[in-house]
Amino acid sequence: MTNINIYNDIAANVQSGARLIRTADVINETQITHLSEGAIVQIRDEDNHFVAKAIVVKQNKGFAWVFTVETFEYFDEMFIQNAVEVAIEKRMELFDVEETNSFRLFNGEGDGIGGLTIDWYNGFIQINWYSIALFNEREIIVQTLKTVIPQLAGIYETKRFAVSDEDWKIKHTEGSQAPQPLVIKENDVEYAVYLGEDWMTGIFLDQRHVREFIKTQAADLSVLNLFSYTGAFSVAAAAGGASKTVSVDVANRSLDWTKENFELNNISTDPDEHEIRVMDVFDYIAYAKRHELQFDLLVCDPPSFARTKKFQFSAEKDYQELAVDLFDITAPGGMTILSTNHSGYTLNNFRDDMIAASKEISEDIYLIQQFELPQEDFYTTIDPESNYLKVLVFYRG
Ligand code: SAH
Repeated sequence: MTNINIYNDIAANVQSGARLIRTADVINETQITHLSEGAIVQIRDEDNHFVAKAIVVKQNKGFAWVFTVETFEYFDEMFIQNAVEVAIEKRMELFDVEETNSFRLFNGEGDGIGGLTIDWYNGFIQINWYSIALFNEREIIVQTLKTVIPQLAGIYETKRFAVSDEDWKIKHTEGSQAPQPLVIKENDVEYAVYLGEDWMTGIFLDQRHVREFIKTQAADLSVLNLFSYTGAFSVAAAAGGASKTVSVDVANRSLDWTKENFELNNISTDPDEHEIRVMDVFDYIAYAKRHELQFDLLVCDPPSFARTKKFQFSAEKDYQELAVDLFDITAPGGMTILSTNHSGYTLNNFRDDMIAASKEISEDIYLIQQFELPQEDFYTTIDPESNYLKVLVFYRG
């Protein structure tokens, strides 16, 4: 087994629960250059004392995930089966929640195996493999899921690692096929999910608490949802009694899908009430400023990086400037909800940048609420990359 020496302060972090090993943590880079996906390595400190064992999983986040700090544990079938069983055991009561039938079953490093996520969509499962190393363990993982979840109807799998052109990226692999759409429920709001088409299924389960918050706040408010995708935030707002919503996304697919989500919940898609715009967010903002439009509740959830014909956006570089405009088109007495899932943009930096943006518009804007990943199913480690979701709610006085 290859030994890798890391700096002592990093070793201390691992001892307190950190699980991600980054290239920069390694003292001598030649120790890792030859390693391939799935290799099991021993992590040692500067004095060559055993710290942990890790599996090489080359994601953007780092190069290896620690799976144990014990010398006697191995990344074998028993270990993997146990991790999956424990994860499901921890979520047992979520299967019985009447108003929500979709949630995360296995959250990578937070459940002991980095690079593997498994989601539950009202009877069906989507497994996301972030590394060939984990995909090679699929037999034991699929078997365990089938054994411990008797009500499981079918499984879809996505490969989130580089594959050859002939290879599949997404596939139905077990049991029956899901209806298209598969209607799921969250806090008594329904959403149309399509499994087997793209790894993005129509809903990001990690925003559950934000949708719930919006639903409880939105009565009689005008709502602007930027980077709206399938309109999930807008539908939650409308279900909570919003008087008007505007959903803006540049992707064509967002129009029909958002409409479908409104219709599922018997909400009007009359554009005077619930407007869906397929256009660039930056063009829409220019339009809103030109017409002096303001909204009572604004939610913005951009991708970490985006490029359209006209604009290029990187959350870490450009969010602050975008936020200035967003505060500007938030009505006094209104709320601005700013979200980022960029794992490299730390909560502290994001918060500082957004507060700075708010001050450019008014001294009367306050940070009133903050959301991170839902604790009941998106288990995390202390690694900042694991806590990638950051959502800030500002109130404009
Ligand atoms: N907020 C959504 C998820 C957003 S995913 C939700 O909670 O479900 C990011 C979305 O941003 C994608 O649908 C993509 O089409 C859209 N997008 C990326 N760049 C854009 C731009 N410049 N203008 C409008 N939409 C954009």
